[in-house]
Amino acid sequence: MTTALVWLRDDLRLADNPALLAAAQAGPVVPVYILEEPDGDGQGPRPLGGAARWWLHGSLAALGEALAARGSRLILARGPAAEVIPRLAAACGAQAVHWNRRLEPGGQAVDRHLKASLPAHGLAAVSHRANLLIEPWRVRDGQPYKVFTPFWRWLASQELADPLPAPARLEAPAEWPPSEALDAWALRPTAPDWAGGLRATWTPGEAAAADRLGTFLDTVAGYPEQRDRPDLAATSRLSPHLRFGEISPRQADHAVRLALGAQPERADALAAFRRQLAWREFSCHQLHAFPALASQPLKPAFARFPWRPDDDHARALFSAWSRGRTGIDLIDAGMAELWHSGWMHNRVRMVAASLLTKNLRLPWQWGEAWFWDTLVDADPANNPAGWQWVAGCGADAAPFFRVFNPETQASRFDPTATYRRHWLGNRQRPPPIVNLKTSRAEALAAYKDMGEGA
Ligand code: FAD
Repeated sequence: MTTALVWLRDDLRLADNPALLAAAQAGPVVPVYILEEPDGDGQGPRPLGGAARWWLHGSLAALGEALAARGSRLILARGPAAEVIPRLAAACGAQAVHWNRRLEPGGQAVDRHLKASLPAHGLAAVSHRANLLIEPWRVRDGQPYKVFTPFWRWLASQELADPLPAPARLEAPAEWPPSEALDAWALRPTAPDWAGGLRATWTPGEAAAADRLGTFLDTVAGYPEQRDRPDLAATSRLSPHLRFGEISPRQADHAVRLALGAQPERADALAAFRRQLAWREFSCHQLHAFPALASQPLKPAFARFPWRPDDDHARALFSAWSRGRTGIDLIDAGMAELWHSGWMHNRVRMVAASLLTKNLRLPWQWGEAWFWDTLVDADPANNPAGWQWVAGCGADAAPFFRVFNPETQASRFDPTATYRRHWLGNRQRPPPIVNLKTSRAEALAAYKDMGEGA
């Protein structure tokens, strides 16, 4: 019997959790979550934005309750992982630490260091795959695909294993290490409390993720035709649950496969959903190959792109964009949805990002940072990959000349203006801050000046 710490990170669930299951099968288990602080070398995961911190609070509370219902506990600790883990292990006599691997570069650097250093503390460090369908080093000998379609074809041809069950039993250790109180971490906003819309929209946690998946399964057959429509609740809205690992991609894929099993003619719905999960994998693989994804363009030529100079005018344009005061209805509706609910429909994310980077010619990193702070699903891979894709500098990106026209997009994807009316209500509408036609021409000229060569 080995007492083991299970260090939970972006995998806040009991089912399909290989680290938890392996530890539970070997003996007593001490589940741990660490609010990580940078280590002596400054290494650590990217600090969460405000909306994601709100989510994390809810997710940890739910996980703590689920563990308590099984006679276990969630131990909370703060600090650099390299200090916290040996301390907790000593306090409960653990001989091993299990975790599920993560691909975020700062977190990975911590994990690599721990794998090397924990044996000196008498601790075996065991890592598992849980958060991706396919890890990057299993693809083409670690040479990432740069184009999505061949990656997707390859992924679609892979057999996926069925999800694992939650451990039947979680044995408590002879002695529990001390835990901090979740409230002491102050992850939720107080003064002001801006999280009312988040609370009204979401319930974090594994059980809520399963509920949301169940709701999605009722409408999944319509997903291929309707997934681009922000006025319909046609997508899964699983993104924050996937981001925090309250559900694994394998569980989501498996459930959709089972639900559609009785309707073989709807194989296209499974393919369409799995294709979006494949974008998630593709983004993670990009981040793994290019750790600077959130700050540097993947196509080096874009380092020369003539963005608008960072002056008062640029800041005023950014403020209008981020606060939903551009005077362009689809954009302002999307930014209102984001501000209220911490989420925005994918189609509107693309159009809003295009307006910022092309019509307004503001750096994509500004938009990425705003989304990072305001999205409940803010993801270290999907967010920068999404921004780079729209800006034209990412892997297999939209060609730069594809400048979304928000008005055409609105009439195509929100044909009865239901989405725009819902989020704009009776607000006074400002005049447009930018002329769509001339700004598009200016963006294309700037792109030409940059010289492609990427
Ligand atoms: P569904 O359509 O139900 O898709 C299922 C799952 O597949 C999603 O939950 C998500 O995990 C994944 N997925 C879907 N579309 C994409 C995509 N284009 N790229 C990567 N994964 C995808 N997604 C995030 O999870 N976090 C982010 O921070 C994020 N930032 C984005 C920024 C921009 C500028 C853009 C254009 C896209 C961004 N996306 C991000 C991708 C996408 O918009 C969301 O994943 C999607 O809107 C979530 O809604 P859903 O769960 O209903 O998606």
